[in-house]
Amino acid sequence: MTGPDDERAGELTSPPPKPVDDVFAKVEDARVEQWHLAESLGLLPFFRELRGEVGPRMIFEGKPVVMLGSNNYLGLTADPRVRQAAVDAVSRYGTGLTGSRLLNGTLPLHRQLEEELADWVGLEAALVFTTGYAANLGLMVSLLGEGDAAFVDSAAHASLVDGGRFSDGTLRAFRHNRPNSLRRGLRAWREQPDAGGLLVAVDGVYSMEGDLAPLADIAAACSEFGARLLVDEAHALGVVGPDGSGSAREAGIRPDLVMGTFSKSLASCGGFIAGPRPVIDFLKVTCRPLLFTASGVPASLAAALEASRLARSESWRQEAVVANARRLRRGLRELGYDAGGDDRSAIVPVVVGDDWKAGTLWRALLEQGVYTNCAVAPAVSKALLRTSVMATHTERDIDDALAGFEAAASAR
Ligand code: PMP
Repeated sequence: MTGPDDERAGELTSPPPKPVDDVFAKVEDARVEQWHLAESLGLLPFFRELRGEVGPRMIFEGKPVVMLGSNNYLGLTADPRVRQAAVDAVSRYGTGLTGSRLLNGTLPLHRQLEEELADWVGLEAALVFTTGYAANLGLMVSLLGEGDAAFVDSAAHASLVDGGRFSDGTLRAFRHNRPNSLRRGLRAWREQPDAGGLLVAVDGVYSMEGDLAPLADIAAACSEFGARLLVDEAHALGVVGPDGSGSAREAGIRPDLVMGTFSKSLASCGGFIAGPRPVIDFLKVTCRPLLFTASGVPASLAAALEASRLARSESWRQEAVVANARRLRRGLRELGYDAGGDDRSAIVPVVVGDDWKAGTLWRALLEQGVYTNCAVAPAVSKALLRTSVMATHTERDIDDALAGFEAAASAR
């Protein structure tokens, strides 16, 4: 006779899997080998520790560096008022909410944030998530049922791609920033019998390219084919549009849905979806990445709330970040670098082309006291160093970084 305990004992003593049917077999992967090789040569740019206050200058490998690898666009991570808001929230509520938004994880801070964020982006209602990734994923999985399709720009963020993939709908890509490629796809979809609903998802500002979506044209394509439009404003909020309200308002359109994150201009961690109240209410009852995860912590929520207020009221920050990006972009071009990005964005990609060259230039820049982010395949089609600036960088910071690029130019 066997009981439950014997069965468990049986599981524990079952023979080890043969290499081919062992899920661990795949960890012997060429990418891991490359990773170790890059690490041994000092060229691995990933999972490296930075020290010091999160701001325009930080410490890397014990040396000060100009920080050009941060999404802290408005420089609010070190602002005393944002810090104090986080401290006050910890004093009042404690460190964590230990539960889902659905149950014990909602505070008055959520309601305040949701009302103010919806107002900022000009939509009816908003819903705060623990991360921006969860917001995009949850929204798309909830909205896209069988027979529906998502058309996603080929350079859009992974969370939009994953949202389409993990949903019951169909995921289609269209060529980056080509509204006519989108139109062709939407037309073909509509010509199918029994075609369901359509959602078009784009980034307002592309995180690697630093370019803006042609939103007026994309919105027109959506209305032609009866598609709903979602604009991911992760890199636009605080930087683009009137009062930093994003690329949709900059383009003069009102999308159906906006996504935003707290992990960039808002100096914190978390994300939100804004849209019509019935959609927000539907997410509250269906959205698994909202319901089955813990709410963000009080300190993050309070920091994001304070940062959003400062982003809206202190217009010098938006002006300064854009001016710094222009100064960097112009200087890099003068040095002969292939520097991109729209003049309205805080992102300045420096295209290098080859993964190893990108690692070598990244290391050479560090030797010159400049920290950049290295982006290689599959994140980008051509390897690049992604640089971005803050409102709180001084002209001296930008000029020091340019001097570093000049000195590192032979590593290109
Ligand atoms: N969308 C875009 C365009 C992003 O760049 C990011 C973060 N890199 C996200 C969504 C996800 O946001 P979060 O960091 O809040 O998860």
